[in-house]
Amino acid sequence: MRGAKLLEAQLPALAEKRGRRKLTTRIIFSVQALRIQFDNRSVIHNLSSTWVPFHEIQDESQMETLSMSNSENQQIVLASRPIGAPTPDNFRFETQPIPAPVQGQMLLRTIYLSLDPYMRGRMSEAPSYAPPVAIGDVMVGSTVSQVEISHHPDFAAGDMVLSQSGWQDYAVSDGKGVFRLGAQMKHPSYALGVLGMPGFTAYMGLLEIGQPVAGETVVVAAATGAVGSVVGQIAKLKGSHVVGIAGGERKCRSAVEYLGFDACIDHQDPALKGLLAQACPKGIDVYFENVGGAVFEAVLPLLNTRSRIPLCGLIAHYNDREAPQGGDRTAQVMGTFLKRRVRVQGFIIFDDYGSHFGEFQKQMSEWFTAGKIKYREDIVEGLERAPDAFIGLLQGKNFGKLVVQVGAAIK
Ligand code: NDP
Repeated sequence: MRGAKLLEAQLPALAEKRGRRKLTTRIIFSVQALRIQFDNRSVIHNLSSTWVPFHEIQDESQMETLSMSNSENQQIVLASRPIGAPTPDNFRFETQPIPAPVQGQMLLRTIYLSLDPYMRGRMSEAPSYAPPVAIGDVMVGSTVSQVEISHHPDFAAGDMVLSQSGWQDYAVSDGKGVFRLGAQMKHPSYALGVLGMPGFTAYMGLLEIGQPVAGETVVVAAATGAVGSVVGQIAKLKGSHVVGIAGGERKCRSAVEYLGFDACIDHQDPALKGLLAQACPKGIDVYFENVGGAVFEAVLPLLNTRSRIPLCGLIAHYNDREAPQGGDRTAQVMGTFLKRRVRVQGFIIFDDYGSHFGEFQKQMSEWFTAGKIKYREDIVEGLERAPDAFIGLLQGKNFGKLVVQVGAAIK
């Protein structure tokens, strides 16, 4: 019972360290183990003679004893492939022992998990640029993780890293594709958004393919999202007239008042076509395509001669079960591209522009530090909430870059 008393005294500090807003002070004893329950999540520790709180862990060997003793690895695996929109049944929550790293490996604990639209493609077997997640496998995803145990020469316990750990608490890595984040990074989760893949996508797609010129009109869809918000702000920095398209009044207001766009049109408004035409009196020179569907239909007649379309994503179609109803519109669409000499270029960010990542990081860090780029995150707490949050992303429920807080870093 001495251990319990000590623990109760330490729980508020422990909760704060783990970044939990609410703490359910439920302590469950078994013969040898103690489970501390935070919200719906739990951490289990052996009741050994001394209790070492997380924030007092001094060295790797203590950490190793704690983490390898009795804890579990919570995972979310692909249970089945969606037909149409994903449902919670397509995911399964599993608990596995924490994997043990061998020489040359390290144990990573997930702090932030990025949720991104491309994951819908990985749930499907349809041919794509990357292989699908197998049924029963952990869902893929980029993470900001903390090195908990290192048997790797290039990484030390406590390092914050960018990795591909997926939808789980822990992963073992041999260091391939893992990047150390600067210790001074105030918001490590930004490495999953404005300073990472989505920001890079916006930067390269707009500047390499869109090539906006001062005074031109740039239209971007999914305008308040991870990619779109950065596209519009870079276009403003280049002197363009920027019109966003977003879902709902709240997002549209934010695009103008917070992100600094010239206008934003709600794609849920039945008058979308007319409103977009009013907002683009000189037509559209660059359309950054994130969406497709009705938004693309509204854009098509407004495209100027020699306009450019960075074809980044088509999220309105990711849940399609069959070809859209109605006549074949290919001739009209291609005819417009031909007559107006539109340049349309699809791209997969790291496949096509990976070598430019350093240049992007330098420029974006400068803009960001100077306050020229604003950034909004939508943080969901708890790995168990990832499936619902992801389903919501495909329905426009996120407002800003969607990130799951899985754990908290130990300072
Ligand atoms: P977002 O943060 O923008 O979230 C997705 C947004 O898409 C939703 O919030 C919603 O915004 C919008 N949306 C969803 N369904 C629809 C619909 N039916 N019609 C119109 N809008 C819809 O995601 P990202 O910024 O991460 O991604 C944006 C796009 O960029 C995606 O298509 C993604 O696949 C693509 N992408 C492509 C990459 C590449 O290498 N080519 C790399 C990264 C992303 P709202 O409520 O405003 O409509």
